[in-house]
Amino acid sequence: MHALLLTKADASPLARFVDFDPAELMPGEVTIRVSHSTLNYKDGLAIARGAPVVRRWPMVPGIDLAGMVEHSDTGEWAVGDAVVVNGWGMGETHLGAYAELARVPAAWPVRLPDGLSAAQAMAIGTAGYTAMLSVLALERHGLKPSDGAALVTGAAGGVGSVAVALLARLGWTVIASTGRPAEADYLRALGASEIIDRAELAAPGKPLARERWAVAVDGVGSTTLANVLAGTRAGGAVAACGLAGGMDLPGSVAPFILRGVALFGIDSVMCPRPRRIEAWRRLATDLDRAALARMTQTIRLDDVLAWAPRILDGKVRGRLVVEVAP
Ligand code: NDP
Repeated sequence: MHALLLTKADASPLARFVDFDPAELMPGEVTIRVSHSTLNYKDGLAIARGAPVVRRWPMVPGIDLAGMVEHSDTGEWAVGDAVVVNGWGMGETHLGAYAELARVPAAWPVRLPDGLSAAQAMAIGTAGYTAMLSVLALERHGLKPSDGAALVTGAAGGVGSVAVALLARLGWTVIASTGRPAEADYLRALGASEIIDRAELAAPGKPLARERWAVAVDGVGSTTLANVLAGTRAGGAVAACGLAGGMDLPGSVAPFILRGVALFGIDSVMCPRPRRIEAWRRLATDLDRAALARMTQTIRLDDVLAWAPRILDGKVRGRLVVEVAP
């Protein structure tokens, strides 16, 4: 089968398309014929740098897929079932999605929600599902649109674009933070009410700032996340899901102890199955399809090597669907 394979090299991994023997797939009860995947920031990291994302060599990258069950050793899945798989180490420790077939444990797939095509599911992909997990965390804390505005950082990226569209559809007033002022119209079309320059949040700030938003979805981390926390209203909450700006968190405890702000960590990879099912169900009902189409570009599997560095440079707008064998 046609597959992208990463092999260990000295500095960066060697990435090339190969004719891969399906007998070499890793153990699992379910074999899936992959129709679509996506290019996420993490896929860009795996292809360009290998470690620390890739922890098994050689590796087929690709952290998410949609496709049909081709073979099943368990009664839970039947041939022809339409499924989505994301995370669980696919493309990191388990051979991933950039191949015509994937074999995974039976506990990993989620049924493709009614009303979503495989291409739409991958337009959402790990990024969109992570945005939904973030929204679910904020909702579980009891926060609602009448509490104040919602900030989204890294707004023109994948997680950010879906977060903007989702929050706007759910009734929030969305403030979108972006380093790409040229994408202001795009972000407004997704539902943002206000656009701010990411430079406003990038420089070290005070432990507490003016209270500007009740909730935030942050895909940037580092000083930006510290400033996001400092500007969160009393009783509000922030979902931290990314590190596009850095892995550190140079802030203070002031927002937590003086304003009761909560910080939720979002891990899409090992998220338990019931919450995955809930997230995909909510994505099928709560994400505006026209907005999803507006944020999505489609590329072929053979194009991912050219696109990987672009996503790391923050040059990809919204979501990239990868057609594997549509
Ligand atoms: P994208 O590259 O599509 O989006 C990231 C966005 O962050 C960019 O578009 C840009 O937005 C902004 N950005 C990039 N570099 C910087 C910088 N140096 N400083 C400030 N902002 C920056 O990636 P994804 O949306 O796929 O992922 C976003 C983040 O979330 C990544 O760090 C990724 O690893 C993480 N992630 C985590 C998951 C989890 O399980 N926790 C799952 C999925 C993703 P703009 O141009 O609008 O400023």
